[in-house]
Amino acid sequence: MYILGDWRRTHFSNEITPEMDGEEIIVMGWTHSIRKLGKLVFIILRDREGTVQIVVPKQKVSEEVFTTAKSVGREDVIAIKGKVVANEKAPAGFEIIPVEIRILNKAETPLPLDPSEKVPADIDTRLDRRFLDLRRPKIQALFRLRSEMLKSVRDTFYNNGFIEVNTPKLVASATEGGTELFPISYFDREAFLGQSPQLYKQMMMAAGFDRVFEIGPIFRAEEHNTRRHLNEAISIDCEMSFSDEKDAMNVLENVVHNVFVDLYENNQKELRTLDINLNVQETPFPRVTYTEAVDIVNSKGIDMEWGEDFSRAAEKILGDSMEGFYFITEWPTETRPFYTLPNQENPKICKAFDLMYKDLEISSGAQRNHKYDLLVEGIKRMGLNPEGFGTYLEAFKYGMPPHAGWGMGAERFMMIITCQENIRECVLFPRDRQRLTP
Ligand code: ATP
Ligand code: MG
Repeated sequence: MYILGDWRRTHFSNEITPEMDGEEIIVMGWTHSIRKLGKLVFIILRDREGTVQIVVPKQKVSEEVFTTAKSVGREDVIAIKGKVVANEKAPAGFEIIPVEIRILNKAETPLPLDPSEKVPADIDTRLDRRFLDLRRPKIQALFRLRSEMLKSVRDTFYNNGFIEVNTPKLVASATEGGTELFPISYFDREAFLGQSPQLYKQMMMAAGFDRVFEIGPIFRAEEHNTRRHLNEAISIDCEMSFSDEKDAMNVLENVVHNVFVDLYENNQKELRTLDINLNVQETPFPRVTYTEAVDIVNSKGIDMEWGEDFSRAAEKILGDSMEGFYFITEWPTETRPFYTLPNQENPKICKAFDLMYKDLEISSGAQRNHKYDLLVEGIKRMGLNPEGFGTYLEAFKYGMPPHAGWGMGAERFMMIITCQENIRECVLFPRDRQRLTP
């Protein structure tokens, strides 16, 4: 019987208790494992919330139920109507004895990947069969945490007067220069996939929205294959008017801190499943200037000139000397995009910051340049053509307030929360240099 009919799940696995002794329930899910012992069949049914044991003793069920139970295979989708029977000897203090079993769909054998976590598989095999891989309880827990993370981030934004916006992802020109863009054909023209909502967020400031945030995809044609780069990522972005970089940093550290607090309070089950000992770091996070960071790097024997960006080796050394989250502030103007506001007294440095976790960059932000002339100068200095920036530039001519903001990679953030070495673990279907499917 593969028909759902009028059956509906009455309980998830974690909602059944020994106190429900005698009640009739319907559970639905996948066959996590099955043991057939002559006159007794044990089925472990797995659903989103966990597993539950179904016991099928030949002499206590109808012949049809027993025959169906015997024909169940691993990962079949099953629905079971049964009675809860309190039993001190059962692992959960109860078992379920079926009245009717429906096999809603059979799974072919052998399975291309074992979802039970018993057999380890390398990440490529797992990603090739991601739909099966995602059935693993640890991986389900990770994506539950990701969902809760995004919810917490939204809550903090709403509580601080931000509104959520959606900006276009099909764009006519580059945000920061042409190197990292994916070109696409747009009817009879060339267009690109958006690498950042930066320019649109800023136009929202000219529009008078005051505080906006966006959670959306960014596309970067990064050629290199690393454990911390994707070609499609989700960026958590915000922009705020009448604010400077320090205000933006305060919002950022609050967003991060609140996610840790919320996950700690609401998601102990998932954290336990993943063996994560969440360390809630108090705010304010430490701040080091770029110059201080360069001194640290040099003092540890890695040569680095003032004005360079941190190499991977430099980031590693820096990460070894810093605990948890910290900001790097006061960057050389040369190292940052044209829309960053230089320091008025010393234009060699600018009002940019990065949020780091040990050796990993989580977020970049800054107070932005809100003056038309300075902006055009900056665009030219970067070797770009101001004419390519169209109405973005115009937005600065007719009343642009001072503003600041940042962008944080959702997957980078998840790497930190869930202690993953490879960013691909934090995406359902990662896109990288080799991978475009599934
Ligand atoms: P990195 O130097 O680590 O490559 P970036 O400085 O080029 O990053 P930004 O342009 O500052 O990145 O983007 C802001 C944030 O977006 C980064 O701090 C990171 O969290 C995230 N991000 C950027 N590029 C990627 C990517 N290719 N894959 C995953 N996340 C990314
Ligand atoms: Mg950056």
